Amino acid sequence: MRSALPEALRLRTRALNRKRAREGGYVLCWLRQALRARDNPALDVAVSVANARGVPCLVHVGIREDYPYASDRLHAFQAGAAAVLETELAARGIAAASLLERPGHDAAGVLERLAGAAVCTVTDDPALPLDGGQVAALAEAGPVLAVDSARMVPLSMLPEGIRTTKGFRAAHRPLRAHPAALPGDVEPDRPPHDGALPFEPDRLGARRAATVDRWIAEAGIDHSLPPAPLFEASRARLDALLDRLVGTVLPVYRWRRNNPADDASASLLSPYLHFGMVGPREIARRVAASDAPAGCKWKFLDEMLTWREWFAYRAATLPGPTAYDTLPEAARRTLADHADDPRGTLYSLDDLIHARTDDETWNAAQNQFLMEGYMHNNLRMYWGKKIIGWTPDPRTAWSTALYLNDRLSLDGRDPATCGNMGWVFGQGRRAYRENPVYGWIAPKSDRALRKRPGAAEWLAREARRDGLRIAVPDAVPDYAAGMPWG
Ligand SMILES: Cc1cc2nc3c(=O)[nH]c(=O)nc-3n(C[C@H](O)[C@H](O)[C@H](O)COP(=O)(O)OP(=O)(O)OC[C@H]3O[C@@H](n4cnc5c(N)ncnc54)[C@H](O)[C@@H]3O)c2cc1C
Repeated sequence: MRSALPEALRLRTRALNRKRAREGGYVLCWLRQALRARDNPALDVAVSVANARGVPCLVHVGIREDYPYASDRLHAFQAGAAAVLETELAARGIAAASLLERPGHDAAGVLERLAGAAVCTVTDDPALPLDGGQVAALAEAGPVLAVDSARMVPLSMLPEGIRTTKGFRAAHRPLRAHPAALPGDVEPDRPPHDGALPFEPDRLGARRAATVDRWIAEAGIDHSLPPAPLFEASRARLDALLDRLVGTVLPVYRWRRNNPADDASASLLSPYLHFGMVGPREIARRVAASDAPAGCKWKFLDEMLTWREWFAYRAATLPGPTAYDTLPEAARRTLADHADDPRGTLYSLDDLIHARTDDETWNAAQNQFLMEGYMHNNLRMYWGKKIIGWTPDPRTAWSTALYLNDRLSLDGRDPATCGNMGWVFGQGRRAYRENPVYGWIAPKSDRALRKRPGAAEWLAREARRDGLRIAVPDAVPDYAAGMPWG
């Protein structure tokens, strides 16, 4: 199957086993994190195989109760994205069968039964999968192709063993003009699947919002963490953000990107990229077509293509990418040397979650995570560094920082989460002198940040926000040992 694909798709596709395609009513396209109907390589592969076999492609999205940090916030985003996906697939003549798990509407066995009736299963291939091993179980039973859909340049085109961001940039840049890095949809040549299904699909695209809200309220997930209204997973909101990127953010990105108080400083697209509602190829195309200054375009693409895809490369190639041992040896050594240094204040998890520290800048940052489900890039480094000094030891700091980011932020549980946290914990330049607690890990001050136009007022206002109380676990999961969700 893989060998029959056009080169641009073959480069993105891995066969997860040697099982051969079989008789079936459709090709199943199980979308885990690439929740979009266009510019979606996993869908293109599924439609290509379906066309070649003379069957339709059927798309499945399963929003289960048991993924890491399942909450109203994460559920609402995925349900919204799945609804847009279904609607846009229907316009392309592709059927979808989604499931939002809740009492009486169990996900157990649904994916397996869907796959069992398929010619083969095609799925996207996230560098940090969140499906709890479902894909491995599926590959035991039948043919599965996994398609690199989150990156502009597929992993298979990059050389092995790249060690630095500079080396990655040099290898990645020339490949951005390759056909595999450019968007292009494969159209189905069969009518949509209308045969029997092994469950009653939820038809999220056709439901009233109140119905989906009720289903989410019934699901066995964390209901204390509410949806984040700033990041509505709708076509209208995504289009508005893409227009805003080109019209407002991009023209000033190089100079104003570091001020969280500046409305034009950031695209707010990371949740949409994380859940694959939009892909980097589509955004890069819009950036290339804009008339923003070349330096601004370069800077934005360097963030979205170099840094984002570098961290995905690391996550896909490092064993246990969230493990503490992925930090450089020198960073772990200096933090260990200072593990017994007296700390100023050790805040409880409850205080950290609810932004109750003595540091206004940190509280403002944490409130963004808590209330908005997002944090401005420039705040995140400061926010993470402070946690090192406020927790009993470096490994607890590592787990705490990742836990807060992953649970609260819509873009969390991503290769960029652990990759950037590595920089907080000593991946980059070392300090000019050895400090208590931090050793040779560079600390970070908020002095420059607070001098930016409007920043002091903005931070004071954000820090004062109050009112949301969410469930607090007894302890954070042990990220230091590896991915806490296995
Ligand atoms: C401690 C820490 C934790 C982070 N955790 C995450 C995370 O969980 N998920 C996440 O997507 N990003 C994370 N980042 C990177 C960055 O902060 C976010 O990507 C950015 O704030 C997203 O907002 P935006 O889309 O408005 O950014 P923009 O400035 O508009 O950037 C556009 C896109 O470029 C990419 N990008 C920008 N900066 C980075 C970066 N430093 N590393 C990788 N990609 C980048 C993102 O995909 C982003 O959406 C983290 C950074 C730090 C320092």
